[in-house]
Amino acid sequence: MERIYFDNAATTALDKEVLEAMLPYMTTHFGNPSSIYSYGRETRLAIETARKTIAKLLNAHPGEIFFTSGGTESNNTAIAAAVHDLGCKHIISSPIEHHAVLHTVEYYGCGDVSYSYVKLLSNGHVDLEDLEDQLSLQKERCLVTLMHANNEIGNLLDITAVSNLCRKYNAIFHSDCVQTVGHYPIDLRNTPVHFISGSGHKFHGPKATGILYINDNVKIHPLILGGSQERNMRAGTENVYGIVGFAKALEMAMSDHEKDSTYIQSLKTYMIEQLRKNIKSVSFNGDAEGKSLYTVLSAAFPKTEKSEMILFNLDINHICASGGSACTSGADQGSHVIHAINNNPNLVTVRFSFSKYNTKKEIDAVTSKLRELI
Ligand code: PLP
Repeated sequence: MERIYFDNAATTALDKEVLEAMLPYMTTHFGNPSSIYSYGRETRLAIETARKTIAKLLNAHPGEIFFTSGGTESNNTAIAAAVHDLGCKHIISSPIEHHAVLHTVEYYGCGDVSYSYVKLLSNGHVDLEDLEDQLSLQKERCLVTLMHANNEIGNLLDITAVSNLCRKYNAIFHSDCVQTVGHYPIDLRNTPVHFISGSGHKFHGPKATGILYINDNVKIHPLILGGSQERNMRAGTENVYGIVGFAKALEMAMSDHEKDSTYIQSLKTYMIEQLRKNIKSVSFNGDAEGKSLYTVLSAAFPKTEKSEMILFNLDINHICASGGSACTSGADQGSHVIHAINNNPNLVTVRFSFSKYNTKKEIDAVTSKLRELI
C-alpha cells in the first residue's frame, strides 16, 4: 500500500538530481580534499564551488559559509562561540526553540553566564517588546538566539526586527534557520545577523549536512579541533558528497522557490479548509493562517481514548505525521512547544508538514481517515 508522507519538517526525500550530483564524489572522485595531487584538487574544487554557490544564494561572502554535520552542530557552535569567544554573559532565547538550541543554552548558560526566555504572545509569536525590555536591562554583552521558523507550529519570526533590536543593544544574534534555509529567500548581506544555521535534509538535500553562516566581522575559535579544514574552523575530512548535495539542493530549491512555495501553501490552505469542513472540533496551533511557515500545519483535536492513539493509528493506515519533535513510537509524549504555547491537557496535536511531492488527493485521503480516527 502507498504511504502518505506528511512529515517534511522532520526530513525530506532526497531529490534525484541531488543524488546524481553527489554520486561522482562517492565513486570516482574520492580524493581527500587536503591532498595536493589531482584527486585532492578535484574534491577541493567541488567544496569551494559549493561554498560559492551557497554564498551567492544567501547573499553572503564564501568566507562566511562553514560546512557542518547539520543544524544541531551549527547551533551548538554558534552558541558556544558567543559565550566563549564573544564575551556574551547572558543568553536570551525562547521556550519553543528546537532542543538543539534549548539544551545548548541550558548547558552554556551556567556559572557566570545566565539565560532567560522571552515571553510569547497568545498566538505563539515572540513578544518583541519583552525582548527589548530584557535587552535594555543587560549590563554586559548578550546573545539572542531565536529561530526563524518554528518546526512544530510553523510561526515565523520577524528576523529583521530582531536583528535591528540586537544591533541597537550591541547583542550577538544567532538564528536557527533550519526550517527556512531552502524555503525562503534569505539575504544575509542585508540582515544584520551574526550567525545562522541551515540543514540540507530539510529541503531535499542529504542528511547530516549543514552550514553555519558566521558574519565576517565575528572572529571565533573552532568547536572541533584537529586538522586545518574549513580554514581551521572545523577539523575533520570534509563530507564532500554531502557538501556537493547541499549546494545542489539549495540551488534547486531557490530556482523553483516561487512555484514550489505557492503550491505548498495551497496544500496547507486546502488542508485547513478540509479539516474545518470535516472535523468541526479541530483547531490550529500557533499563527497557522498568519505569519507561518507554508510547509507546516499543527492541528489540535479534542482528547479522547481514540484520538490519543491518533499517531499510532495514522501509522497503521500508512500515513506519516508527527506530534512534534518530542514524539515517540506513535504516542504523543507531549511537546515542549505545545506545552509552552497552549497548556491544554484536553487536546491532542498532530503536525502535518508538506513538500512539493504532496498532492490534494493525499490531503483528501488523510482528512477522510482522520474523520474515522478522531
Ligand atoms: N533546528 C530545527 C528548527 C529543526 O527543525 C531541526 C531538525 O529537526 C534541527 C535544528 C536539527 O537539525 P539537524 O537534524 O540537521 O541536526
